[in-house]
Amino acid sequence: MRGADSTGGTRRRGCPLCAVFVSGTGTDVGKTVLTAALLRALRLAGVAAQAVKPVQTGVPAGEEYTAQQADARVYASAVADLSPVPGLAPASVLRSFSLPASPHLAAACQGKRLEAAELAQDVLKHWESLNGAAELLLLEGAGGLCVPLNEREDMLDLMAALDLPVLLVGGNGLGALNHALLSLAALRDRGLGLAALALIPTQPATVGAEDEARILADNLRMLRARLARSGCDAPVLELPRLARLDGAAWQRLAEALSPLAEKLTHWTERARGEMAADLVARDHGTVWHPYASAVALPPLCAARSSHDNRIVLTDGRELIDGMSSWWSAAHGYNHPRLLAALRSQAGRMPHVMFGGLTHAPAVDLAERLLQHMPPGLERVFFADSGSVAVEVALKMALQYQQGRGETRRTRFLTPRGGYHGDTLGAMSVCDPVTGMHSLFAGLLPQQIFVERPSCRFDMPFDPASLDDARRALEHHGQEVAAVILEPVVQGAGGMWFYHPDYLRGLTALCREAGTLLIFDEIATGFGRTGKFFAAEWAGVTPDILCCGKALTGGVLTLAATACTGDVARGICGAGRVFMHGPTFMANALACAVAGAALDILDENRWQMQIAGLEAAMRKGLEPCRSLPGVADVRVLGGIGVVEMEQPVNTAALQRFFVEQGVWIRPFNRLIYLMPPYASPLADVSRLCAVVKEAVHRGAYRTGV
Ligand SMILES: *Cc1c(COP(=O)(O)O)cnc(C)c1O
Repeated sequence: MRGADSTGGTRRRGCPLCAVFVSGTGTDVGKTVLTAALLRALRLAGVAAQAVKPVQTGVPAGEEYTAQQADARVYASAVADLSPVPGLAPASVLRSFSLPASPHLAAACQGKRLEAAELAQDVLKHWESLNGAAELLLLEGAGGLCVPLNEREDMLDLMAALDLPVLLVGGNGLGALNHALLSLAALRDRGLGLAALALIPTQPATVGAEDEARILADNLRMLRARLARSGCDAPVLELPRLARLDGAAWQRLAEALSPLAEKLTHWTERARGEMAADLVARDHGTVWHPYASAVALPPLCAARSSHDNRIVLTDGRELIDGMSSWWSAAHGYNHPRLLAALRSQAGRMPHVMFGGLTHAPAVDLAERLLQHMPPGLERVFFADSGSVAVEVALKMALQYQQGRGETRRTRFLTPRGGYHGDTLGAMSVCDPVTGMHSLFAGLLPQQIFVERPSCRFDMPFDPASLDDARRALEHHGQEVAAVILEPVVQGAGGMWFYHPDYLRGLTALCREAGTLLIFDEIATGFGRTGKFFAAEWAGVTPDILCCGKALTGGVLTLAATACTGDVARGICGAGRVFMHGPTFMANALACAVAGAALDILDENRWQMQIAGLEAAMRKGLEPCRSLPGVADVRVLGGIGVVEMEQPVNTAALQRFFVEQGVWIRPFNRLIYLMPPYASPLADVSRLCAVVKEAVHRGAYRTGV
């Protein structure tokens, strides 16, 4: 499969929205005049453009075109002498409110509430309703970038929702630099493209003409230099100062804007050039995907942006996320607190080597992690991914045993059905069948495998489920450095939930056999199972605990391996050191974001959110149990699993799910959900309904 088809969906009917957003560095900087002049420039260049105000305030309903202050009148006057485009009014106002105030307040005064997503829908509907008559929309915002739409969202959110390039208009005069630079930084922070920066001279300040000319010219020079420094090639345009807006003035302005109009014309052509399809084709030419072939190319969707519990594709389709990006994005996407932490740390210090240096984000995080972990864990080693955290844990156990003279203890014991990562050491303790040990047989250390913890989480505990582990430890105990397992939930090895009493029994067996116990909480940590760490279900403290994935809320890669004081002292006796030290150890950006993710968790809403997810998935997935092909349905905390009798066709299911507007990626015999904690429950129900539909229709077998 290649190109757009491989997204598995149907393209939005009609042309994708071609538009540019016009915003100001403040109010009254000449945004409306510039929009009108650009409308004229585009019309002169033969582009069927329309100026649109998604929200206008200060205009009584029904008076959009007549009121003195109505922008539509300004737009119309700029093109009054040009022949009209058939079927296309020069301007349109989508929502108007009478109070001349910020949109959030003007709307509230009329008992309304504005939402960026709804306003974006207004724009898309308007574009569709024009039925191809317009080639380009000039969307003029109300006021500047950070003008609020509601308590949570600003104009910037509307721009981001539409993902349009922005034409930023500023006054040229005293204070221009400050306002323009702040606005440019805000745009950059949101990942929005700058189409151009246009400066209109403001009323002369109390300086002489010569000084004023120097100031205005320097403003332009400075802004050009700053944009170039940040790698932005958008033009900085200088517009003439005009005393009166008559026909001649409109013409002069339009001429000054004609290079920009030209640029936008090309841009619209490029937008129509199906960038999305292009991206997948280029990917197929160069990039390798996880667990995928580089010859039989996997179906791909191109993601453009994300927010809350949504992933937005390059063709504008928005998917409800059911995966939290492999368990990591527990708090959803683009969480403002995580991004704020990222930005402020980036501004201070992104990274320094951790050998011989330390920093507050790392120390704070270590202290806070230990507060959340089972008592007895005392020391934290930061690693750059989950697999590396597991390697670190295994090396810790080996060095610990060497340190106390137990040199025969070089092997690891682990239940079948586990998953611990893809590096060699971690892979050696993954389930030997699903972990494909046969492929790497010559290289992998031979570990000791025992029966999967057979007693279900939701059944009374069966002590016999420990028999195999007991036998193995009696037999091999002297060779075992540590037992490693995922507490309560075996994740990628089979999405299996087992009884916490198994962990209590196993802990006792480890103590008797003199081996260490390692809990891999990379998937289970940070609330996903209904406890902060899954070890809490059993009330036991392992000797070593690994965490990762949701640690940074899915923003950056970071993991941590914590151990008890006894393990730390055992490793480091007689002047020995622990032999590990990745280049990006304790990356300051990642540590800062992880700190913010802990802040979110410390607000303690996660218990309620997980309980809500659990109830919604129990209700929504239960009906699958009676469908043909289904082997089991189980839900624990924020994890919902439909286990099939046969392996599913992941590519066919992915196509079906994307068509249905959800993002779910099944593997092997498992169709599972792991939505972000704050997912609206209606979205969780939708995820469940789509899973049910897929199973019902047999979409897991072939594709529909
Ligand atoms: C994902 C996972 C890992 C590996 O983490 P990476 O960051 O992908 O290296 C290890 N253990 C468990 C339990 C996991 O779920």
